[in-house]
Amino acid sequence: MNLILFGPPGAGKGTQAARLKEKYQLAHLSTGDMLREAVAAKTPVGREAEAIMAAGKLVSDELICNVVADRIEEPDCAHGFILDGFPRTLPQAEALDAMLEKKGKQIDVVIELTADEAELIKRIEGRAAESGEARADDNVETLKKRLDVYRSQTAPVLPFYAAKGLLRTIDGMRSMDEVTREIEQALPGRG
Ligand code: AMP
Repeated sequence: MNLILFGPPGAGKGTQAARLKEKYQLAHLSTGDMLREAVAAKTPVGREAEAIMAAGKLVSDELICNVVADRIEEPDCAHGFILDGFPRTLPQAEALDAMLEKKGKQIDVVIELTADEAELIKRIEGRAAESGEARADDNVETLKKRLDVYRSQTAPVLPFYAAKGLLRTIDGMRSMDEVTREIEQALPGRG
């Protein structure tokens, strides 16, 4: 089973992906995590991505598609994967389709977690206060920028998957356990 977790930054995609990974033995492919690792390791990809990420903007489609194309070749993806944070633009969604088609694979379901923007801002502030050290891109200004980018560039990907009959929309503002339960019910063959 290959699935996409879709939703604005802070909607809980990472938490839910970790739970699904555990339960269904899927690889968790977070493009944000991959890029943060590349930044930390100062690889060429990391050097290209660093300032763009700090500004809350999107790295280029070409760069991120290359990262994902390499990652889904890894053996742990053979039994299925969860994409978290990818695709984020229509060209990325189209490139993903082409990538998977070449391998005889497909996306089985796209789970959209919806979220209330004011609540997301509160959550990010809370997270930063708890950890004592905010992630570089987690300040409120950057979050607002990221929400703008989500609305203008990422949300338009949803109709692409809705047209294929793959989109399931879930209220991401409910408790983590409720969201997990709803996601599980939305998985193919479990509805
Ligand atoms: P995330 O942790 O998924 O919110 O990603 C953190 C940052 O990494 C984003 O704000 C973007 O700058 C960059 N990024 C992650 N995934 C993508 C993607 N699919 N396309 C472009 N930029 C991305």
